[in-house]
Amino acid sequence: MSIPKRIIIGGLEYRVELVDPSFSTEHFGQLEQLKGLIRINKEISKDRQQTTLLHEILEAINSQYQFELEHGKIQGLEATLYQVLKDNNIYFGEEQ
Ligand SMILES: [Zn+2]
Repeated sequence: MSIPKRIIIGGLEYRVELVDPSFSTEHFGQLEQLKGLIRINKEISKDRQQTTLLHEILEAINSQYQFELEHGKIQGLEATLYQVLKDNNIYFGEEQ
């Protein structure tokens, strides 16, 4: 899975920025729904950036469609979807 510069989720566009980790000491990524922005720590490994992007995509979907999934389920989907995409060499889009 690549890290694109922008991503469209449910018809809404989000900028994806690889940023200095100072935005958060606890999280690898952050979704700012109203700004249409996904931040990802640029200092973590490529694998972690990819799975973090998937996590923030799932957070956006959860919020936009009011699935009301608890965070543990989002993390479970993140891990299982990421495994399927990675182990089957499924890639989308251009690298950032
Ligand atoms: Zn989360």
